[in-house]
Amino acid sequence: MCGIVGFTGKHQAAPILLDGLSKLEYRGYDSAGIAVRDGDKETEVIKAKGRLKVLIEKTNGGESVPGTCGIGHTRWATHGEPSETNAHPHVSENGNVVAVHNGIIENYRELIADYDLADTLKSETDSEVVAALLNRFYEGNPEEAIKKTVSKLKGTFALVILFEDQKDVIYSTRNVSPIVATICKEGA
Ligand code: GLU
Repeated sequence: MCGIVGFTGKHQAAPILLDGLSKLEYRGYDSAGIAVRDGDKETEVIKAKGRLKVLIEKTNGGESVPGTCGIGHTRWATHGEPSETNAHPHVSENGNVVAVHNGIIENYRELIADYDLADTLKSETDSEVVAALLNRFYEGNPEEAIKKTVSKLKGTFALVILFEDQKDVIYSTRNVSPIVATICKEGA
């Protein structure tokens, strides 16, 4: 079972994401990754196969990935071997959508065929199809793109999503798989 963490606020996101993921390590995983955005700069995605320790070392405890908004994931592979390419977050072909997913998209093969997505995909996962579909349906309104995407999905999912042109905003939706969202008093 994977773990997902997201953070947006006043603090540096990467150390918070890594700390959150370490608290979810007990759930089991085979790879990990984070995506962090720093103002108007392109979202940075760092992934590593194996222990979270590898990702922590790769990012110098998160210090090498500045930014105050981000998402993180520990993956338990169900579709596609454990590898850096198959690790989450997944980025859509033009970089507009970055997403992490917990669960299984049962109809991902049909979706690839129906929406002609094969050429846009880099991994073997069911999850990347969700990022590709969100991107396909995105016309400037994240909620609409999410609703349309979710209406096409069969299976279980907790999704946490960044849209490149929606600075500092994290989107999330779920079916069966749980998600918890909180707001800190000081808006941190
Ligand atoms: N089915 C997805 C994959 O294989 C997500 C697995 C998970 O929940 O970690 O990448």
